[in-house]
Amino acid sequence: MENFLIGVDLGGTNLKTGLVNMDGKILEKIVVDTGEGKDIVLKQIVKAIENITSKAGKDKSEIAGIGIGSPGLVDSEKGIIRGLTNIKGFENVHMKEYVESALDIPTFIDNDVNIMAYGELKCGAGKDAMNIVCLTLGTGVGGGIIIDGKIYRGSSLSAGEIGHIPVNVDGPKCICGGRACLESYIGRDRIIKRTIEKLTQRKESIIPKLVAGDLKKITPKIIYEAAAVGDTLAIEIWNETAQYLATALAGIINVLNPELIVIGGGIANTGKYLFDPLRDMIKERVFPFLAEKTRIVRAQLGEEAGIIGSAMLAKV
Ligand SMILES: [Zn+2]
Repeated sequence: MENFLIGVDLGGTNLKTGLVNMDGKILEKIVVDTGEGKDIVLKQIVKAIENITSKAGKDKSEIAGIGIGSPGLVDSEKGIIRGLTNIKGFENVHMKEYVESALDIPTFIDNDVNIMAYGELKCGAGKDAMNIVCLTLGTGVGGGIIIDGKIYRGSSLSAGEIGHIPVNVDGPKCICGGRACLESYIGRDRIIKRTIEKLTQRKESIIPKLVAGDLKKITPKIIYEAAAVGDTLAIEIWNETAQYLATALAGIINVLNPELIVIGGGIANTGKYLFDPLRDMIKERVFPFLAEKTRIVRAQLGEEAGIIGSAMLAKV
């Protein structure tokens, strides 16, 4: 009986593999170093899948499918990873073909944020929903869109670049070729930069004390901690962050009319200091009948979204 799925979360540093049941529960999990170079990474993936199957006391014949989530540009139809910036020598890798010929189990791959969105849809914050938009807020801003219960990939399989929605007519030049992209204002480093700029203009903040005077040590977590004790400068930073985010999301909500906006990633740990102003600002900026229907919630699957989402992708 094919009662189990395998989810693989391929990251630049870690390769996480999980044996998952049909309801999306992780039964076994292993984490190894991803390694460098195409051949090593591919072998690691197959080895991790074999190891986890035997560790869980299962036979290969019990695995219904394998899902693999990868950062970068992924051709999910052909099962090819087109490009990965954080793993050397990883271009045009025929991942699906390689894994299927090594293990003879149906294999599916997709971009990691699409995978996260799909995981949240099936097993997390988006259960029972059909139309959701997911965002990850971290070093960059990633996005995944689900329409009618399916991942929306677009005509060149690259939809969902929410971080590259312009939020101003003019502004910083971006790697995508555009200007004033959302990511240019609320990517991790930009939040820190805005904080340092404010600190150089005014002194009244607890933040310098929290980093013992070394402004290079400021992290989003520090800015969160400052906000939590009522620091007005920190609260201002999160309000501004919410404003940029609300500007982009208002457009998305007016266009797509989703039931849910699911927000994950490290910056989402800021919790109410980001989410409260964000919800208020969105209400002010979209059609009232659309605002009523769209809930803004935190992602539920956290670190395990990659494993669960990719396993669910393989459930066909
Ligand atoms: Zn951009």
